[in-house]
Amino acid sequence: MTARIIDGKAIAAEVRAEVAGEVQGLADKGRSPGLATILVGEDPASHVYVRGKRKACAEVGIVSHHHELPASTPQEELLDLIARLNDDPDVHGILVQLPLPEHIDEQTVLMAVSPDKDADGFHPTNLGRLLVGDRLVAPATPAGIQELLIRSNVETNGAEVVIVGRSNIVGKPMAALMMQRGAGANATVTVCHTGTKDLTEHTLRADILIAAIGKAHAITAPMIKPGATVIDVGINRTDDGLVGDVDFEAAKEVAAAITPVPGGVGPMTIAMLLKNTVRLASQKPA
Ligand code: NAP
Repeated sequence: MTARIIDGKAIAAEVRAEVAGEVQGLADKGRSPGLATILVGEDPASHVYVRGKRKACAEVGIVSHHHELPASTPQEELLDLIARLNDDPDVHGILVQLPLPEHIDEQTVLMAVSPDKDADGFHPTNLGRLLVGDRLVAPATPAGIQELLIRSNVETNGAEVVIVGRSNIVGKPMAALMMQRGAGANATVTVCHTGTKDLTEHTLRADILIAAIGKAHAITAPMIKPGATVIDVGINRTDDGLVGDVDFEAAKEVAAAITPVPGGVGPMTIAMLLKNTVRLASQKPA
């Protein structure tokens, strides 16, 4: 059996087209959604990511307000900028690109973004809302994975979902999403990490296996239940180029459906960021 490839690029294009329609609808009411991006420092990968996000904004009609600060920027200066953007009526979403330079406390910065403008869904208020089932916005990567599952007709109701990785941006919010009642969720969720005693014992139970580890090919074919859906979040730069956390070539002979890297989860992350921004812009009366 060779797995069906879940085409994240195509599904993300669908989502972006829908977002463009919503942006037009808001513009017709005199409200143009705006996303502020903040980039601190010279990290080359961060520059590439932010460029991609701004380009995607332009394509759907979201106004991009970009702020680039040197790596030496004091934390107070960054907090002042966020405070100004929180008060700016043309800005509906704020995104602070991570990682931040070491002298800046990430959690303090994420807490400073108004929950009503939290385009990444990282503010504890929005993470709390997600957990209690009253979602305003969800972190883009797990929200994108849920959307991939729904649009690929993968049954989540009653499914065993095993997530490998417990980061605040992927693993934990992914678990919170999949355990809710409702469409694209209602699953039984297990979260694995380096404290997990026997990883394979868990992954072999997974109807849906989500790998968010950050280690090339950490998930091998013998760890996958035949017929499972495998979602590979990992982005690892190796001598062979960009690879995921899953040994794709071997895994696709065991799984029923699988996301490739690149072209799987990555494009969905940007699409959901745009969706979050429109959602935030829509919440206030036009
Ligand atoms: P992270 O913060 O580095 O967390 C990695 C998680 O994996 C940790 O919880 C860690 O456990 C766990 N882990 C590491 N080795 C393990 C092992 N051998 N067995 C079991 N668990 C293990 O990672 P992240 O930010 O969630 O990112 C994960 C990957 O996804 C990275 O490659 C990243 O580049 C990629 N990513 C992709 C997108 C996208 O849009 N496609 C978005 C975000 C992230 P401990 O907590 O015990 O250390």
